[in-house]
Amino acid sequence: MIHPGHKEDCCGCCACGAVCPHGAIRMVPDGMGFLYPQVDAGLCVDCGLCERVCTFTRPRSREEEDMAREAEVLRFPDFLDRSQSGGLAYALMRKAVAVGYKVYGAAMDADFVVRHRRVEDLEGLQALRLSKYVQSDMAGVPAQVLADLKVGRSVFFTGTACQCAGIASLCRTYRSGGSDARPSARSGEGSRPRLLLMDIVCHGVPAPYVWRDYLDHVSRRQGGKLRSALFRDPAQGWHASKEKLVFEDATLVRDDYAFLYYQRYMMRPACHACPYACLSRPSDVTAADCWGIEKALPGFADDNRGCSLMLVHTPAGHAFAADFPDRHLRRMLPLKEVLQENLQRPVSPSPFAGLFARVYRTMGFAAVFHLFGQRALPVRAARKLRRWVKTIKRRSS
Ligand SMILES: Cc1cc2nc3c(=O)[nH]c(=O)nc-3n(C[C@H](O)[C@H](O)[C@H](O)COP(=O)(O)OP(=O)(O)OC[C@H]3O[C@@H](n4cnc5c(N)ncnc54)[C@H](O)[C@@H]3O)c2cc1C
Repeated sequence: MIHPGHKEDCCGCCACGAVCPHGAIRMVPDGMGFLYPQVDAGLCVDCGLCERVCTFTRPRSREEEDMAREAEVLRFPDFLDRSQSGGLAYALMRKAVAVGYKVYGAAMDADFVVRHRRVEDLEGLQALRLSKYVQSDMAGVPAQVLADLKVGRSVFFTGTACQCAGIASLCRTYRSGGSDARPSARSGEGSRPRLLLMDIVCHGVPAPYVWRDYLDHVSRRQGGKLRSALFRDPAQGWHASKEKLVFEDATLVRDDYAFLYYQRYMMRPACHACPYACLSRPSDVTAADCWGIEKALPGFADDNRGCSLMLVHTPAGHAFAADFPDRHLRRMLPLKEVLQENLQRPVSPSPFAGLFARVYRTMGFAAVFHLFGQRALPVRAARKLRRWVKTIKRRSS
């Protein structure tokens, strides 16, 4: 029976709940809103399927990682206004819908909770666009993907690498005899695979309850009803990380939530031990921001409006991403010229992450906001101290 001994051992992909034929596993949120499996010992028959499907802590070979490989950079000018990087993820999802795939991705519900959902048309795809900097709730989603495959539907799943790995492992487990229903996800009608996976490169996923409480905090101060929220507003420029909160009578553009995220206080513990933060990915195609494009390819994307990096890992991925019907620019580059940290190693936690979690759980969001936020006295003092140290170093060298 699955029982993640340490929080670092579970990424919350929810594959274990989906594979259990006895319905013995429920995903339950912890104090920060991260989902973890809880096994009902009365229903569990100890068949071991949940342990078999979990790939998160299994050692992965990095032998196939080729630092000398080429990567593709792409830009879809018509999508930049509502895409987080160059619009690649949206272009791939559009293509998938056009050829009949059911597309899964992360959307923000009317209550501002981020959940994975299935969409079937271009209108539905609009909710999947843009990055949501919070862990997406996957409860029930792997089971729905499996059900789709079982009845012959084709699925294009998008998510973080750990979510893609969970879906892939679930399908493998079924194929290898985990159940009577064995969707052969890699053999569809014609030459098109029934399951395609696209992952996004990920810096780590923040706590859902911190996002919820941040919105509550701002709404209470603002005193109006929150109409919409964007984690990173493309209108501020690709390099900016500012959230946009639209109230009935005011629009706020600020970076208090982004500050907490980039300080690495509130990420899922497993993100700091992520086995997929490397070039060997559990997907067909990877989409990322192409940081460094201005230097690597001057003139291609110098306007601070976004550029995508694409890595393709499988023949199915190559076939699918070989062309796009939408207007785009596309170039090959040596990967090492645009290789970012998150494709090489997991992000390390802030030394204060444990304290942040304890204060948040015991005293609530207002306390962490005042103690760890960018206007907090200790943070301002540390910033000042860093500036002094820099100045002293500069003067003495
Ligand atoms: C938490 C997080 C951290 C990221 N960190 C990095 C990073 O360090 N380096 C980097 O290059 N790129 C990172 N990205 C991805 C990047 O910001 C772009 O989203 C990605 O390159 C796709 O953008 P696009 O313009 O191609 O299309 P868009 O239309 O902007 O693509 C959105 C896609 O992202 C998926 N998505 C959005 N939010 C989530 C979520 N919470 N969980 C799972 N899937 C989600 C959607 O399903 C959709 O497929 C991160 C994204 C998230 C959500």
